[in-house]
Amino acid sequence: MTLTATDHLLDGRAVAADMLARVRGEAASLAARGDPARLVSVSIGASEAVTIYVRNQRRSAERVGIAFIERQFAANVPREDVLRGLRDLNEDPEFTGIIIQRPVPPHLSIRELQGAVDPGKDVEGMHPASIGNIVYNDLALAPCTASAAVELLRRTGRPLVGLETVVIGHSEIVGKPIAFLLMAEGATVTVCHHMTRDLALHSRRADAVFVAVGRPGLITGDMLKPGTVLIDIGINRVAGPGGSRIVGDADFESCAAVAGRITPVPGGVGPVTVAILMQNAVTAARRLRTAAPAVPA
Ligand code: NAD
Repeated sequence: MTLTATDHLLDGRAVAADMLARVRGEAASLAARGDPARLVSVSIGASEAVTIYVRNQRRSAERVGIAFIERQFAANVPREDVLRGLRDLNEDPEFTGIIIQRPVPPHLSIRELQGAVDPGKDVEGMHPASIGNIVYNDLALAPCTASAAVELLRRTGRPLVGLETVVIGHSEIVGKPIAFLLMAEGATVTVCHHMTRDLALHSRRADAVFVAVGRPGLITGDMLKPGTVLIDIGINRVAGPGGSRIVGDADFESCAAVAGRITPVPGGVGPVTVAILMQNAVTAARRLRTAAPAVPA
């Protein structure tokens, strides 16, 4: 599905629904030949964010017919126990995809845990091998949020080859992978971050701007080229008159007045991120069943 040029809003829920319909078919054909995709979600401790992520992921998995099993560790679980638990899940043929919910408690390192997941089951695309693969243009199991952001740009129908793109934010999980995915598509990429001297100088040149910083109101309409595509990845809780609400990194009103296409927050990158996770789940299951083990014994 390509959104029509008259849609100003880039509706992530509609894109996600379209993607999930396709994933549902793939999940059904894997199940029919006896190789079902099965996800396991690992949470350590409890937080509001994790509760919401798990609920959304479970809902999407059920919608596409993928089993979703939860493994929970206490907040004070020793590091060795989590690593042993992950090794068991890596070796268990019942599971074809492993999700580690973040945040994890401070005594644990999310990077270490992600590095302990079998790259073949890395449906989040966060293992160093998965990150390395996108540098080599192997995009099959790319990080979900970054993939979702680029998928939304793709859905505008604008040719990505040679497109001037600016990525604001250079974190390992969002900004840097977006830059690599865009380069794989042939776009020209500028990456900005907190040390960039003049953000607007770059953003005003761009045919597409990605912002993943975590600062509400960072991007205003005067920083954009008219007609640009603005993909807002930020998630910020701000106080409002009727209680708190979630906003992105863009000042939506002024940006929407200038941009040709803009993602809402919520309802933009978030739902597509979960759809990509499900897509990665069927990709990992298919690869695991048909290929040699990703981790040599
Ligand atoms: P992070 O804190 O790891 O990185 C923030 C980035 O912003 C850094 O690269 C930093 O250099 C840059 N930055 C900070 N201040 C800046 C400024 N004034 N100008 C330009 N750049 C600046 O954050 P993250 O984990 O990449 O997350 C970024 C945002 O995306 C957060 O709001 C987070 O909640 C959201 N997020 C959304 C999803 C999703 O599915 N939609 C997933 C992950 C993260």
